Amino acid sequence: MKKAYRTFIGLILTAMVVLCLPGLKEFTASSAADTDKLEVHFIDVGQGDATFITCGGHSMLIDSGDDSKGTAVQNYLQKQKVQKLDYLILTHPDADHIGGAPVIITKFEIDRVFVSNYEKDNRTYQKLIQALDNKRLKAVTPDVGETYRLGSAKITVLAPDRIYDNPNDASLGLLIENGDNRFLFTGDAEEPAENDILNNQADISADVYHVGHHGSRTSTSEKFFNAVKPAYAVISCGEDNAYGHPHAQTLNLFRANAVEVYRTDEQGSIVAVSDGTQISWNCSPSTTWKPGEPSDPGFQKKSDNCPTQITYICNTNTKKFHYPSCSSVCQMSGKNKKTVTISRDEVIAQGYAPCKKCNP
Ligand SMILES: [Zn+2]
Ligand SMILES: [Zn+2]
Repeated sequence: MKKAYRTFIGLILTAMVVLCLPGLKEFTASSAADTDKLEVHFIDVGQGDATFITCGGHSMLIDSGDDSKGTAVQNYLQKQKVQKLDYLILTHPDADHIGGAPVIITKFEIDRVFVSNYEKDNRTYQKLIQALDNKRLKAVTPDVGETYRLGSAKITVLAPDRIYDNPNDASLGLLIENGDNRFLFTGDAEEPAENDILNNQADISADVYHVGHHGSRTSTSEKFFNAVKPAYAVISCGEDNAYGHPHAQTLNLFRANAVEVYRTDEQGSIVAVSDGTQISWNCSPSTTWKPGEPSDPGFQKKSDNCPTQITYICNTNTKKFHYPSCSSVCQMSGKNKKTVTISRDEVIAQGYAPCKKCNP
């Protein structure tokens, strides 16, 4: 009798577990067996962002390059046999992120469009709104903490959590998980927005970090980097871009931490493939460590030993600091010239301001 009673209780428990399983599945990481292949294509759009992601037959696009790249992104997606995008995500309304979107919106069927809460009043933005209207698409800003599915991958919204004055800071931030593999996207979010993401206590550790703001030193603060601790960093930027992206400070941080860096200005479109456990790449990482800033002959050598230290020439009279290669250095009188090999923050802390010409 006692044994029969135990069996009965056992059956009830088993039934409860089975009934609860569909609900549980949503909240547990998918096992290797039901993990789809996730492909992340960092499309070369010159200076700008456009990242195509596909998993289990579902697709999304994060940003679209500037308006001269809309057709190139369209062609790239068509080569990938994309007919429909489950999501179009426009991180923030700067032209190098949304300029190509009207072409994409016009040419593809799109289920959902997510945008930043930052609105701009310019022609590029108006063209985007017009294209959305023409397709009767409504763009929404998802809330922080919301999750979405792309095949077996899970997308978690990390930002923006408030209204910002700087459109870059208002960038949509996303973490994409596929099995054990994690990819982080922060658009052009700069340090204030990174701090807000950190304050929200979400786990932002990631294998692959799509580097904020094209490798600018105004993003990827050390604190933020330490929370992400990526094995791989991908920088979307254009060759010889006007902003000097990626900045030496950001590259040095990656180099000092043995992060493998991929960059679209050197390698063209870059593809990462996740099977849920491992990530493989279509090319080898970049080994140039070449910043987009004016080149400093001392940089490569110095950074081997002490990656965050750079040689600068300070003018003790004007209180400006320069790269050694800056033309102002030739004109500087010997008695005002002081050579230092320290980090950029340290030289600023000593009361020097960056030269406007070489922008160190
Ligand atoms: Zn940008
Ligand atoms: Zn921007």
